[in-house]
Amino acid sequence: MKIKKIESFNVRGESGRIYFIVKVSTNTEYYGLGEVGIKGWGSAIMSAVDHLSEILIDEDPWESEKLWQKMFRGGFFPADTVYSCAISAIDIALWDIKGKSIDKPVYKLLGGPVRDKVISYPHVQGMNIPDLLESAKKHIDAGWKFLRWHQLETEPFDKNNNATFDPLKSIQISINSFEEVRKNFGNDIQLCFDVHTRLNPTLTIEMCKELEKYKPFFIEDPTRSENPDVYKLLRKKINLPLAAGEQWGSKWPFRQVIEEDLIDYARIDLCIVGGITEALKITHWAETHYIDIVPHNPLGPVSAAACVSLCMASTNVGVQEMPTKPGSLDNKLFPKQIEWDEGYSWCPDVPGLGVDFSIEEAERCAVEPSRSGGNLYRPDGSFTNW
Ligand SMILES: [Mg+2]
Repeated sequence: MKIKKIESFNVRGESGRIYFIVKVSTNTEYYGLGEVGIKGWGSAIMSAVDHLSEILIDEDPWESEKLWQKMFRGGFFPADTVYSCAISAIDIALWDIKGKSIDKPVYKLLGGPVRDKVISYPHVQGMNIPDLLESAKKHIDAGWKFLRWHQLETEPFDKNNNATFDPLKSIQISINSFEEVRKNFGNDIQLCFDVHTRLNPTLTIEMCKELEKYKPFFIEDPTRSENPDVYKLLRKKINLPLAAGEQWGSKWPFRQVIEEDLIDYARIDLCIVGGITEALKITHWAETHYIDIVPHNPLGPVSAAACVSLCMASTNVGVQEMPTKPGSLDNKLFPKQIEWDEGYSWCPDVPGLGVDFSIEEAERCAVEPSRSGGNLYRPDGSFTNW
């Protein structure tokens, strides 16, 4: 079996969501699907996918480790995050091909299943506390056992996707939101809170002291990610479980936080970090430090299936991010998706990842890749992390 074609698809589903899917075809009937993590960098990553195709055509998809090394290290300079996103999508597609070609689900190739289903958390939506509570109630009623929300903007986004973020006001909203969620829904529901890299270390430490009494399951990305050494300070000063890693584009930025036991949950993004190949290494490495994985999954059905495949084959899993129920959005584009029931997700026992993608529909709803994501500004006009 040889790789014959690699194609990128930037599409907008009926839900309005954008997906960046990569399809790897072979000289057989088997093809694989991958998804790109930072879809807002679309055209740059499309070019990276095209560039990487030059070294993949006519190669054997079963030699995925060798191909990963060639993609990441080829050309002498290690891959950056743009390249890692392209490598990730291609690598996930190679695992999909391998599974399909021997009639086995990907989680069985990874050593699983070690569990029947994976506990998952949804995204609770709302720009203020009443809206958050309403959304939380809907999710609890639907069967979810975890809730996740984030460090809120303090003014809504305008038509140009700009918003104001006043850190001190936002911290107070966060503390109040925890109080209300616990008051309304009790202590049996697990709460994940994403600071989204929006606070500096001093402010995040102060906020976390106030949140201790509400017993969150974890605090995610308590500060910016460029300098993993900052977790030494956060570890000393924050008395809550810490989750980090979704912005890191290989195993290397995880080295210090795993080796020095600075985090509790590794937020590996399979579509940024270098695909299933790289995520599997980080997962097993984290296991030696009793660190659980919580794969970052804000994307579409291919990302979800890759994450859940990894979780079904790994013992050290905290919870899986699953913004909405699999199968509830964009079914024309993705006619086959993974399964969900009562807050748990799982991959069915079918060949590959268990996801399909309609090329006919993709051609109908193709969009030009464009920069996405909002901009946040402090009240003084200075730029801050989105
Ligand atoms: Mg996050």
